[in-house]
Amino acid sequence: MALTGVEIFKLLPKTNCKKCGHPTCLAFAMKLAQRQVSLDACPDISEEAKQKLGEASAPPIRPITIGVADRAIKIGEETVLFRHEKKFVNPCAFVVEVKDNMSDEEINRIVDEVLTSEIDRVGQKLRIDAIFVNNSSNDAGRFEDVVRSISSKASFIPLIISTNDPVAAEAALKLISDKKPLLHGANESNVEVMADVAKKYKVSLGVSAKGLDALSALTEKIKGLGVDDMVIDPCANTAKEILEANTMIRRSALKKNFKPLGYPIITFANRDDSMLEAMIATLGVTKYSSIIVLKSIEKWKNLALFTLRQNIYTDPQVPMQVEQKIYKIGEPTPESPLAITTNFSLTYFIVSGEIENSKVPCRLAVMDCEGLSVLTAWAAGKFTASKIAQFIKDSGIENEVTRRELIIPGYVAILSGAIEEKLPGWKIIVGPREANGLPAFLRSYRN
Ligand code: SF4
Repeated sequence: MALTGVEIFKLLPKTNCKKCGHPTCLAFAMKLAQRQVSLDACPDISEEAKQKLGEASAPPIRPITIGVADRAIKIGEETVLFRHEKKFVNPCAFVVEVKDNMSDEEINRIVDEVLTSEIDRVGQKLRIDAIFVNNSSNDAGRFEDVVRSISSKASFIPLIISTNDPVAAEAALKLISDKKPLLHGANESNVEVMADVAKKYKVSLGVSAKGLDALSALTEKIKGLGVDDMVIDPCANTAKEILEANTMIRRSALKKNFKPLGYPIITFANRDDSMLEAMIATLGVTKYSSIIVLKSIEKWKNLALFTLRQNIYTDPQVPMQVEQKIYKIGEPTPESPLAITTNFSLTYFIVSGEIENSKVPCRLAVMDCEGLSVLTAWAAGKFTASKIAQFIKDSGIENEVTRRELIIPGYVAILSGAIEEKLPGWKIIVGPREANGLPAFLRSYRN
């Protein structure tokens, strides 16, 4: 069971030295109980206390990393059931399946699709994160060849290699263990030998068992065999089973601190019907799957799933923001238009996108309104005439432009007179209400 703040406090040095950045040991203990700080922050803690607290302060869902360097996927480490309580920590990974009994052409096509799956949405790169190589042929030699071929073609893409055959697993791991793949395929019938292989090659192990009792018994056994890093598969198939199993696993890990189920979950959403696959994957994104295996890559499905994941894994208490500054779009001259908006990410990316579409070089003044959209910021008193005027003065833009005209969003047309009063020498132009009106507006504005 997790220790309370007071129980943790009893094990701390109680010197209130503040080296951990907290005013007292009790304050630090409370934060540690909520898993908001790391035990390492206290340099004076005794080895004995460290041992006792280490387990208690470990995240209830073990963090697992698959792959290396920039493209490594980090999963697990979640601490809450609902995202309104606290931000979900590590976004789930979308993984596409390659079967080793597919033709080489088909495998190459899927790998190419993974390599080109990346899209840029509100400043974040979203993509298919990894490839799941399935030993469907049951042929260790073919499996090894396919793993070799994929890993040389897409060396930086994390791999999940899936086989129940320890010989095939070892043959593949000899090639790519340095890239830290996930070895998926431990079950009740091969547990000892698969644990040995995972331990030998220092990789995480995917564990499958039907039902949570069998699954937790298996993870305990594997832990006893010396493998700590696991990803769990409760063999749920229907949407109902996935929802039930994932919820029970997350609840057991978080609310009961039940360590045998405190691992990231892999969900197999791969279905022949793309719409059904998208719906199952959606369930996985919203309900606790850390890895979601897909059968195919289609742009419409990617866009829907990437967007959903991005929304679920952003902090609902902190609006997405961009930096306050004057952004140059194209190569503006001193005569180019100057528009202003707020620093809500979505607003910025929509407005800047429409300015780019206009092909009119422009400056876009993005004002810090704590990540609120234009109307909300105006209603909250953060996008007012005096604040806009002050921002323009402080930005130094007056020295860069000869045309002292500021285009404001049509939604705050009411501010134009007041801004002109506070910005002597400037003319305020009311732009369109919606960003999609900007291309036509800017093209006529230029002339
Ligand atoms: Fe207490 Fe350790 Fe923090 Fe010092 S560094 S205040 S001893 S918890």
